[in-house]
Amino acid sequence: MTVDKLHQVVVYGLGAMGRPMARNLNQQGLLIGVKNRTEGKAHAMQKELGLTAFSDDAALFAAADTVLTCVSADDDLKSIINSIIPLLKPGSVVIDCSTVSPQTAQSLSDDLAANGIAFLDAPVSGGVEGAKKGSLSIMVGGDRAQYKRAEDIFSAIGSQITHMGKVGQGQATKAVNQVMVAGVAQAVCSALAMAEQCKLDVKKVVEVLSAGAAGNWFLENRGQTMIKDQFNLGFKLDLLLKDLHICQSTLDSMDASLPLVQNSIEDYRRLSEAGYGDEDISALIRLKRCLLNDKELVPDNEHDA
Ligand code: NAP
Repeated sequence: MTVDKLHQVVVYGLGAMGRPMARNLNQQGLLIGVKNRTEGKAHAMQKELGLTAFSDDAALFAAADTVLTCVSADDDLKSIINSIIPLLKPGSVVIDCSTVSPQTAQSLSDDLAANGIAFLDAPVSGGVEGAKKGSLSIMVGGDRAQYKRAEDIFSAIGSQITHMGKVGQGQATKAVNQVMVAGVAQAVCSALAMAEQCKLDVKKVVEVLSAGAAGNWFLENRGQTMIKDQFNLGFKLDLLLKDLHICQSTLDSMDASLPLVQNSIEDYRRLSEAGYGDEDISALIRLKRCLLNDKELVPDNEHDA
């Protein structure tokens, strides 16, 4: 049986992740338009990629068989989907690459299905670097036939694409991923703060440990920057904090808890309240240094005071 493949995509959400995804879709001839809350970003990308200018949103979404969303959080996604449902064609598909809760994925899927529109939750991992290279890991929940229709779209933005099961199971897998991300950050930031306290050459520590049993992506890619106090690239800690609350609510729904999640929420909440929310998650080393030196965290705006 031939599969009716999806190939007319509108990307909604041109943030750090959405922009490179749109470029990669365009390179494969799959992008017909872009949309963003701050309209200037959409106009700039439309110009950069030479996309057709549609007269209005109704014309843009009527031309699409797929809307790929990638926006900050649950409430943002809900308001977008509710606003575009009347504009989408029956038989079209919404693919959501944001990180939101499995419950939000399920309820949006129900709203869309009531209007004849399919939904796939397709959160991603691999960061802005992975989005630029088109090498994201994509964990997909939803109907397998719709997943098959979207294969070309997923191949344009990712290199490891896995159908996890029914709607919500992509987001549940992403929650598991974020527990792991938080745990690795806890281990590496604690260990490197200890290495500093031991007066070791920490650059050499990162080099030698990266090649051994403790080696991992975060140590290799963030180790050398965090010891130089460079936290301006990568994954904003406010986004991980949002994701950890999703992990917490997923655990709550099973009447379970994990100290790693609770402790990480507490740590990243303190950093965020001190003004470091836009820094990379490796800024956790600031807190670990304070812990080892028995000092208070200095808020961001008091550094130069
Ligand atoms: P970002 O750079 O902060 O961009 C956020 C996007 O969401 C922007 O396009 C923003 O529009 C839009 N947005 C926010 N609130 C909105 C609202 N109420 N209505 C309409 N649009 C709204 O974030 P990002 O890094 O691209 O992340 C996007 C999603 O991917 C998040 O769920 C994040 O957790 C997930 N993710 C991120 C990474 C990463 O490394 N950054 C990795 C994996 C997954 P404006 O331009 O108007 O602000």
